[in-house]
Amino acid sequence: MTQYLIRLCLSAVIASIAVFNIGDAAAQSVLIKNVTLIDGTGAAPVTGASVFVEDGRFSRISTSAIATPDGVSVVDGTGKFLMPGIIDSHIHLPGGRAGAGNRQMLINRPVALKSMAAYLYSGVTAVYDSGNNAEFIYGMREDERAGRVLGPRIYATISLIAPPEGHGCCAGGTVVHDYEDGVKKLDALFKMKPDLLKFTRERRGMGPVGRNIPLLETGLMNKLVAYAHENGVRTTVHVSEVELAREAIEAGTDAFAHTVYLDDANANFASLIAEKGVILSTTMTRIEADTTFFDEPLYVATIPEETRDEIRASERFNGSPYTGWLSSLRPAIMNNIKVLHEAGVILAMGTDRSLGPLPHQELEVIVESGIAPLDAIRMGTLNAAAYIGVDDEIGSIEEGKLADMLLLDADPSVDISNTTLIHSVYKGGVWIDRAALDVPANRH
Ligand SMILES: [Zn+2]
Repeated sequence: MTQYLIRLCLSAVIASIAVFNIGDAAAQSVLIKNVTLIDGTGAAPVTGASVFVEDGRFSRISTSAIATPDGVSVVDGTGKFLMPGIIDSHIHLPGGRAGAGNRQMLINRPVALKSMAAYLYSGVTAVYDSGNNAEFIYGMREDERAGRVLGPRIYATISLIAPPEGHGCCAGGTVVHDYEDGVKKLDALFKMKPDLLKFTRERRGMGPVGRNIPLLETGLMNKLVAYAHENGVRTTVHVSEVELAREAIEAGTDAFAHTVYLDDANANFASLIAEKGVILSTTMTRIEADTTFFDEPLYVATIPEETRDEIRASERFNGSPYTGWLSSLRPAIMNNIKVLHEAGVILAMGTDRSLGPLPHQELEVIVESGIAPLDAIRMGTLNAAAYIGVDDEIGSIEEGKLADMLLLDADPSVDISNTTLIHSVYKGGVWIDRAALDVPANRH
């Protein structure tokens, strides 16, 4: 308690208001009436819908009037559009990325809290952390679940699994040497309850110059994926090549952390993924080399100017060989996403970029790839929930599910960029006071 009070005193007034909001609004019921409902399942928008939220969940959805008890707050949804809260299936929450030395010392919770505020402000109500400093992300996840901090729901791998010197080994990853070692280390991770365990399967590394890095041996990966499944834990794999992806499918992986970005996804490969029901995170903004979207209102509102300047100046955007390499990958990756979608693969919107408003950009690139906006919305809601394995609880506006939802001022099924025109954000039925969140737009 003392620690809590100290933290409260040290925080900005804005942050403390946000903390009190968590409790204050928790018990409210809300009726949103006469709204156009886009439920996240890919179904056509339903006009004149009423959505009643009780105890944090959708209790009734109807196109007829819903009778509600006295004291329920009623929101007139006329001319507005209701969709599920957006879910990013691939982030690395800032504030915990480990480097050499003492990882614990590198934990920066204020950075994490600001990032979480930016997500929520942007209508992102859940994220999957695809690899981070274990102590950090586990702590943030616990704090969010206990209502001690305000942000999107956090799901996490806890720590990703890599071979010695392999991709992801050295930034908070869990290095496995052999099966016995792997079992011991996975057992330790299972105690922290990973939501979806992540392996890496990468021999090139990201960048224009291919490096040869050690790969998790196929037999070892097969056994460790099976061991995770025996323990009731689903798995995802970082993979960038078709051949390695096929091996991961044979190992029984449940998901891919990226689209294959170094190869063309041919029809044969696409139908194999579809048949196995492996869910793939899109992560196309990972290869984005365009910076113009950083000037759009939601980015200006949520990312400090100096951070946007830093990102613009980074190798990703500054016209270096790396930028050129990213741009050169773009058409093939967009085509891959379309081929996979048409083959019936379940695609989950994910950015791998860890910036609050980026999911909107990812949705735009998905649509630019030739996918219908309603399908893109499903990727950013229900499919992303399925990727994490929580689609029975969140991801769509259906009776019984947690009421994570966005009220929009314009129709995203007509123009996907309308997902940025956010009127209100609700998480678990609780209205989020966006004007009180600790983002640049509110720091005057
Ligand atoms: Zn990642």
